[in-house]
Amino acid sequence: MKAKSYAVPAADKPLEYYEFDRREPTSKDVELEVYYCGICHSDIHTARGDWGEVTYPCVPGHEIVGVVTRVGEAVTEFKPGDRVGVGCMVNSCGECSACKQGYENSCFKETVWTYSSTDPIDGTGTKGGYSTIMVAPEHFVLHLPESLDMASAAPLLCAGITTYSPLRNWKVTKGSTVGIIGLGGLGHMGVKYAKAFGAEVWVITSSPDKAEAAKSYGADGVIISSSEKDMESAAHRFDFLLDTIPKTYRHISNSSIYTVRFVWLVPLSLCPVIIRWSLLMGSALSRDLALVALKRRRKCCRIALSIPFCQR
Ligand SMILES: [Zn+2]
Ligand SMILES: [Zn+2]
Repeated sequence: MKAKSYAVPAADKPLEYYEFDRREPTSKDVELEVYYCGICHSDIHTARGDWGEVTYPCVPGHEIVGVVTRVGEAVTEFKPGDRVGVGCMVNSCGECSACKQGYENSCFKETVWTYSSTDPIDGTGTKGGYSTIMVAPEHFVLHLPESLDMASAAPLLCAGITTYSPLRNWKVTKGSTVGIIGLGGLGHMGVKYAKAFGAEVWVITSSPDKAEAAKSYGADGVIISSSEKDMESAAHRFDFLLDTIPKTYRHISNSSIYTVRFVWLVPLSLCPVIIRWSLLMGSALSRDLALVALKRRRKCCRIALSIPFCQR
């Protein structure tokens, strides 16, 4: 069936109108009319080819909400008229131990991302939510509660889960003091979640003009990262730091702000590890080496890596 969309024709070109054939739903699929789709920074990274080769035209969008229009005969959880969402993935092997434990995002065989992956059902490139119609297996469609405004709910499907997951995983709660580094799309979600979990929340930002917004989202205070005085005052303060900066940047290496129990840092060089939902823990054990224990959650296997300490 014909879908209307916005697609990027090349890495250096802006979005443009594009029509394509969306595959018909199989017996296990849900078809939905897309009402809203968030704009995620990953859309921009992919469209610009920052993460490797992309097949163009690329239709981004993985914060998708809409209303079900058709379901396959084997679908049991959804019916036409239901309000639903589709997030970052639309298929996986369903058989590996990661999939069986509900971690399809870390499928050992292949997670099929909502766009710029290969759809195992028809072999075409997946196309995201900057389009009028979506088709996805029932297992990758989520119910959207009536109480949620559809437009506001869309960013929960990527930025939301990306920040909710580490805060929950590390049990941020009443009594925790949390620093949210960066106040963009993810950072503002991080502030709201951490606050909702009962934590004391500070935003660490290089932009003084974001202080007002930070407080309006519920932050208890703001630390300006370029201010030595601010950074000194934050030394040893935090139990948990959530780093939402989308690119590699230079940490203030001598700041005691990083003496925390838990840190969630995502340097791009670690993406292949993190994408498998592995856990990295590190400590400086000698002058020039950090020993890092890597624990793969599915199998609970532990691998010790040695990483040159100066490698940033
Ligand atoms: Zn995203
Ligand atoms: Zn799998």
